[in-house]
Amino acid sequence: MLELSRGSLDHAGGSGGLMQHFPNATLLVHKRGYRHLIDPAKLEQGSLAVYGEEAFESMYGRLIPVAAERVQVAEDGFELNFNGRKLLFIDTPGHARHHYCVYDEMSQGLFSGDTFGASYPELNTGKNRFIFPPTTPIQFDPRAWYTTLDKLMALPLERIYVTYFGMHEDIPPLHVMLRQAIEDYAATALKFAASADREAAIEDSLLQSSVGYFLEQQCLMQPDRIKSLFAQDMQLNAQGLDFWLGQQ
Ligand SMILES: [Zn+2]
Repeated sequence: MLELSRGSLDHAGGSGGLMQHFPNATLLVHKRGYRHLIDPAKLEQGSLAVYGEEAFESMYGRLIPVAAERVQVAEDGFELNFNGRKLLFIDTPGHARHHYCVYDEMSQGLFSGDTFGASYPELNTGKNRFIFPPTTPIQFDPRAWYTTLDKLMALPLERIYVTYFGMHEDIPPLHVMLRQAIEDYAATALKFAASADREAAIEDSLLQSSVGYFLEQQCLMQPDRIKSLFAQDMQLNAQGLDFWLGQQ
């Protein structure tokens, strides 16, 4: 089993290309990601097997290895002095086991990657914002995720910078929503554990409940449009939950 999940290409798959553009840069990485960044062949093969050559090529291109001397492993709690600005690296399993969030002391903001959920600006037009947990294959771990969220919420936190997408400032209700969703997703997965096509059943249920939420929030978008925005996420989320069920 690869240390990195299939979803990890959108975490660090562009590192090699980025490092070519910044010849003086050092790449800081979680210890679980280190070997894949200096030798991405295994990771590439795994993804090729999943997606097929053509889809992989069009989505990701080729992974470029990074010279080992330019890669540095950052341990949990590592502090980077970034030109006078302190950045704290926090190990945050739950979504993936190689995932760091980076806390910026100056803005009291957290670069949260996928750990604090995903949120789409075009859907944040209703009464409340929406955030959902990406449970993409293959390292979804609800218990680890709760512990991670506890750790993050203990920080003096004014804002989160969510990779998918945007800055969010009213954090406590988003935290409650995310935690509840992780719980609900896991419960949904368990509910369909014995179903004939459980992945499809889980996907359908996640999609329906997301659409239901937006209708309740008086989001102005039509249900079909909401569904099309979430279709791929919920498919990947269902795949991750299906994999997780297989591990129970
Ligand atoms: Zn991810």
